[in-house]
Amino acid sequence: MSSQKHRQCNRSTEAELRKVRKQLKKNRKPKRPRQRDWIPGDLNEELLYELDYADSEPVMPRGERERRQSVQQAALAALSSEEEDLEVHEQGGASGKEGRVIQVSKGMCRVALSGRELLCQLRGSLSAQDTGFTNVVAVGDRVVVSEDGMGEGVVEQVLPRQTALARPDQFQDGYRLRDRHQQQVIVTNVDQLLIVASWLEPKLWPELIDRYLIASERNGLTPIICVNKIDLADDVADCQAQTQPYVDSGYRVILTSASEGVGIAELKKLLRDQTTVLAGLSGVGKSTLLNAVQPGLQIHTQEISEYHQSGRHTTTQVSMMELEMGGYVVDTPGIREFGLTGLSKAELASFYPEIAALNGRCQFKDCTHTHEPGCAVKNAVGEGGVSSARYQSYQSIFADLPD
Ligand code: GDP
Ligand code: ZN
Repeated sequence: MSSQKHRQCNRSTEAELRKVRKQLKKNRKPKRPRQRDWIPGDLNEELLYELDYADSEPVMPRGERERRQSVQQAALAALSSEEEDLEVHEQGGASGKEGRVIQVSKGMCRVALSGRELLCQLRGSLSAQDTGFTNVVAVGDRVVVSEDGMGEGVVEQVLPRQTALARPDQFQDGYRLRDRHQQQVIVTNVDQLLIVASWLEPKLWPELIDRYLIASERNGLTPIICVNKIDLADDVADCQAQTQPYVDSGYRVILTSASEGVGIAELKKLLRDQTTVLAGLSGVGKSTLLNAVQPGLQIHTQEISEYHQSGRHTTTQVSMMELEMGGYVVDTPGIREFGLTGLSKAELASFYPEIAALNGRCQFKDCTHTHEPGCAVKNAVGEGGVSSARYQSYQSIFADLPD
């Protein structure tokens, strides 16, 4: 199909409608059960800024997301009786196929197309301005590609991002942004965060787990806590006891030994058909776990330092791997950066379900649960309601946050 014809197709209302219909079908995901009480009204502007939904606008006024969601739901309901499924995208003409970007480097990207990979150029007309982010194409993007028949392809279109983990502005020191409101996306369309810790070597560090839990909640990801190297524990019951507070608060916890194959079947089940970002200190066993899930699976994450005229800038090279059983895994050392930016002291308690449950029970209405008399949270520590490890991490993170 000639490019002129493309443009004519694009202009036609029928084509637009089909595009929207196809997109809505793509976005129709089973709603996951809500594990904890989380009130969307609590989202602050910083968080809205960090999140990105359907039409890729990084900043939305309060209530806008809900409005858009209800518009989309109404459109979905109207479409629900239609069974028509378009295999071919308008933009790609007869050869337009949908794939997933698994690697990006200057002007090129690698796209996974149901089991095979295609190196692609970007169509010149694609512009970062359209997405509101500094990068036109990011790892995780769903894209429409056309093939040249010689083993290479062209990204014709980037489909709307459902979610985007973006690097907050202050981490772009020395990096000149054309537009202050544009952000660098690290990875898009992620479902869940696998928080990998180890029982020993390095020793379990509950505060880091809690920071990742907050990060996943704020970015709309389902967290899974994986405590690896349980073979190093004197008694697995110790591991269970230490992780029980997380189970009680509604989090998914798995205990694994990558070296002995314990818990791997359960991990596989959790990763199947999902896009999962891995987080965890170096040495906890992330690579070993992935190899146990799928032999030969290698994640290569590198921090690349580049020198720009304006100063030093560290970019994070992220890559995504397709799982044979279905699903993708991503390793990025950048996860901590988009964790707690913009979070205030007053909001912290809402990210601890067991602390949030005691809301209103303290003597003072504005109790911070740190030093006040008559604090219901402090009273619950050690009595089973709130574990002392979780309370300690609350206090420690609280001290780090701005008012
Ligand atoms: P990564 O940095 O998180 O990717 O960690 P690696 O997968 O490279 O593992 C770090 C070290 O821990 C390696 O020496 C692994 O052999 C070891 N290791 C990984 N998983 C386990 C486990 O379940 N038990 C024990 N004892 N060692 C493990
Ligand atoms: Zn209190």
